Amino acid sequence: MPMSQVRAATRSLWNDAETRAFRGDLAQRVYTSRLLGSDQSLVLHGGGNTSVKITERNLLGEDVELLYVKGSGWDLATIEPEGFAPVRMDALLALSQLDELADAEMARQLRIAMVDPAAPAPSVEAILHAILPHRFVDHTHPDALIALMNTPSGLDRVRTVCGDDVVVVPYVMPGFLLSKRCAQEFPRQSRPGTVGMVLMHHGLFTFADTARESYERMVELVARAEEHLRANGAWDVGVPSPDGMNVERERRKQLATLRHDISSAAGRPMILSTSTNPAGLAFARRADVARVAASGPATPDHVIRTKRVPMLGRDIEGYSAAYRAYFEENAGRSSTRLTPLDPAPRIVLDPELGLISVGESASDARIAEDIYLHTIETISRAERLGAWQALPAGEIFDVEYWELEQAKLRTGRSSPPFAGEVALITGAASGIGRACVDAFLERGAAVVGLDVDAAITGASNSTAYLGIECDITIEDSVLAAFEAAARTFGGLDMLVLNAGVFPASTPVAALSLADWSRTMRVNLDANVVLLRESHPLLAVAPRGGRVVVNASKNVPAPGPGAAAYSAAKAALTQLARVTALEWGADGIRVNVVHPNAVFDTGLWTEEILRERAASYGMSVEQYRTNNVLRVEVTSRDVAAMIAEMCGPAFAKTTGAQVPVDGGHERVI
Ligand code: ZN
Repeated sequence: MPMSQVRAATRSLWNDAETRAFRGDLAQRVYTSRLLGSDQSLVLHGGGNTSVKITERNLLGEDVELLYVKGSGWDLATIEPEGFAPVRMDALLALSQLDELADAEMARQLRIAMVDPAAPAPSVEAILHAILPHRFVDHTHPDALIALMNTPSGLDRVRTVCGDDVVVVPYVMPGFLLSKRCAQEFPRQSRPGTVGMVLMHHGLFTFADTARESYERMVELVARAEEHLRANGAWDVGVPSPDGMNVERERRKQLATLRHDISSAAGRPMILSTSTNPAGLAFARRADVARVAASGPATPDHVIRTKRVPMLGRDIEGYSAAYRAYFEENAGRSSTRLTPLDPAPRIVLDPELGLISVGESASDARIAEDIYLHTIETISRAERLGAWQALPAGEIFDVEYWELEQAKLRTGRSSPPFAGEVALITGAASGIGRACVDAFLERGAAVVGLDVDAAITGASNSTAYLGIECDITIEDSVLAAFEAAARTFGGLDMLVLNAGVFPASTPVAALSLADWSRTMRVNLDANVVLLRESHPLLAVAPRGGRVVVNASKNVPAPGPGAAAYSAAKAALTQLARVTALEWGADGIRVNVVHPNAVFDTGLWTEEILRERAASYGMSVEQYRTNNVLRVEVTSRDVAAMIAEMCGPAFAKTTGAQVPVDGGHERVI
């Protein structure tokens, strides 16, 4: 059955009541920028930019005309007044008169021309905004317009849709040359009724003297492009319902293997996210996918996120070779020596696995996915209009290897230690497990947290976090959790076996078999299933798999009344030792921590602490620090040790048992 994926057509979201809170030109600029940013079919992930021209009196009493233009690093959807960089108009107009200006030098000149040194770097399209003689200027990359521009008859269609209400500028890559070209075309083509400027294969500018009018001109032109698609039967591109989207055990291993191969090509671990949108799988299964996907991206700047073309199937060697050939073929287009980017794909279209996006972080993978889902819709519509025809590869290459992008490589950004890696933590809703979630996220990992407590789903709101309510003693629930981990992040690098129960103190003489068994099921048996299911994924972890078992001081130094707990943790430790022996050949390290007296967990209330302390004749403070070093051991301390055991310091250690207890006389 076909599923419709049609969104409501673009319409004005202007609301008079809302605008009362936005007084003044800059505030109005903020308001309509957010309206544009809230519509993903207009701007995606930091794309698009807006500006307003304002005259202000400076400290010396001079009136200075400024362009407040979107600063880099800000997203239109959430922009604030301080997200706009104030740049002197006279400097911008003077720069636009130069014959030549390298883009890196342009970016420097834009910063020099700012009147607030603390403002963000101005958009590289600042000069373009300055030359348009209107107070408010809006710029987006609307899907509908891009669909009709990227067809063989694109220019005619733009003329049909926009008439002579717009100036049309042929494709020039973003940067100084584009601004220059617009500075020539705009006065030549514009007339009194001009409301916008179409940049072929790129996007749309609208402008006016009020924020509302400029915004509504944008909405009106985009709605016309959508109407054109609808009138030509190219709007509603149905998607067949998916089948076979579930990733079974074998499929999980295939995903993790694909992740291993892509990470090798990239030279570092990468996150692979399988899209849950049925449009992805349907597109991957199109009979003509090889032709339409090979044409190129919807707009050139997507290349930074998605690469020029997706990988079809799983031939990573073939894809890498083709990428290197593309680099060699086009490297001569630049006058400087270029640093090749890694040849790994960012989008994979596989007829079985569907649409998979790739990134160094979960959020990078998410952005690539969002962009490609829009690309799929845009391609499908353009095909209905006749044919999808992206810009030639050379033009895309120029943007991918633009000097400002190359400069970013040279600044040598350092990645966090677990960037691109995936950790699964059990018992992650509270205590040490919860502290582990933070410790692994802080170190750049994507984290899957399991817990019986429903609070697990909200333990973090990071894109890199997936919380799953799961009773680890139920085998099917554990299998489902591994499926979700593989689909969301592509595999598993680190497993933290932390979940456990601490039953009420009971002497052996009074121990019921039911209580004993329940403790064994959680603290021991469940971990057998977790280890078994993690093995195929850990064995193909790009940097080698790691397992850390949270055992207990009770293993080396048991106490009376905790027979079930101590015996389960001792057996778990022995299980870890055997696993270390068996998995060493697969490059998987298995280590154990033995924490003691960690009181900042859910198990310990102030009242219980006072009681226990009193029973030993101590103050609470003495009881908390009752160890050789006289220090308090916190959940964060234990989590830090667990994370470090997954890091390079423990790269050559397996089968080790490390106490985190402030020093315990019976353990030492
Ligand atoms: Zn643009």
